[in-house]
Amino acid sequence: MTDLLAGFFAPWAVFGVIGALHLVLPARGVTGYVRDERSGELLRYRLNGLLVLVVTVGLWCAVCASGAMDWDWFWQHRFQSAAGALCLGLLATVAVVLGAPTTGRGLLAELFFGRRVNPQPFDGRADAKMFLYLAGAVLLELNLLSFAAHHFTAFPDDPSPGVVLYVVLFSWFVCDYLVFERVHLYTYDLFAERVGFKLVWGCLCWYPYFYAVGLWAVADRPNPQVGTWLTVAAAVVFFAGWTLSRGSNLQKFSFKLDPERAFLGIAPKVLADGDNRVLHSGFWGVSRHVNYLGEIAMAVGLALALGWPGVLWPWLYPLYYVALLFPRERDDDRRCAEKYGGLWEEYRKRVPWRIVPRVY
Ligand code: NDP
Repeated sequence: MTDLLAGFFAPWAVFGVIGALHLVLPARGVTGYVRDERSGELLRYRLNGLLVLVVTVGLWCAVCASGAMDWDWFWQHRFQSAAGALCLGLLATVAVVLGAPTTGRGLLAELFFGRRVNPQPFDGRADAKMFLYLAGAVLLELNLLSFAAHHFTAFPDDPSPGVVLYVVLFSWFVCDYLVFERVHLYTYDLFAERVGFKLVWGCLCWYPYFYAVGLWAVADRPNPQVGTWLTVAAAVVFFAGWTLSRGSNLQKFSFKLDPERAFLGIAPKVLADGDNRVLHSGFWGVSRHVNYLGEIAMAVGLALALGWPGVLWPWLYPLYYVALLFPRERDDDRRCAEKYGGLWEEYRKRVPWRIVPRVY
């Protein structure tokens, strides 16, 4: 029973540690892209995600090395922990939503989509959205490492190189997000979404547990003995996706900071009407959301990396991205059409592809 409870409350404790580290560790202060609803001022952020990740993983290694916890403890307790994260996500959603004034959209819609746009508790020392993403990312990393440790414990003589590749690529994904935390201040979640179930439960439960679905499914299986070609193909697909996604996000970030500046030698081609500007060169001339294509390709690379292409579970991860990003592109396209009017019409003509060039 004690063990069950320990598993259930483990994510609560991990999020507590991450929250404390985020508040006390040094951080860089940056000005964001979103404005405060009341004052109209650009919001300020304290960003220290990578440091929080390194310290948390370091603490976890220290605890495991001391013998106080098995390296695969999070694997052994994965069901209880996922249940604990699910309940915490629900409770936190209710607390965050009901603690804010209503927007008049109806309680169910407010619970799902949220009420507040950008809460910054602790006197602005933390930002709710950025903390949620950080918490999800760090617990995901611990789960990945612990699930992989289980694989090595179960198959010490012939562990699967696919498991190693998967964890390396996924750790790259997590670190990449934290290295470029500032770039994500310019993304849809920050300026278009409120803090409700979708974000709170999504970051506290779905992100750290579902994203690791590939390892949930295969950490217990032996080395699939696949050819090196599959491992190489997986890495190539992943990094091709990363190039599209990171490249386009950085290009847009650079454009928003300085619309005249070339990015990786690509001069910005711009549609402008005096008030607004839309970029249509480089990545943003390939399709209107080539970053989403990149994200899906990375997910396909991860599914392939495990070396079990015939098993369904790892494929749920890229399928989830398709289900998330295709409707999101539609929403964003509508939002941009409203914001940019004729400019967006012109952009649609010049760059007719939504996500996949020449296909969709
Ligand atoms: P985008 O980064 O594409 O942001 C869309 C916004 O960018 C638009 O609303 C508009 O906002 C601006 N914009 C779009 N096109 C142009 C253009 N041609 N010129 C100038 N500005 C433009 O989407 P997201 O914010 O949804 O995604 C950001 C990243 O996060 C992506 O790489 C995505 O794949 C990733 N992501 C990852 C997830 C994960 O779980 N790993 C989940 C969701 C997203 P504005 O009003 O500022 O002009």
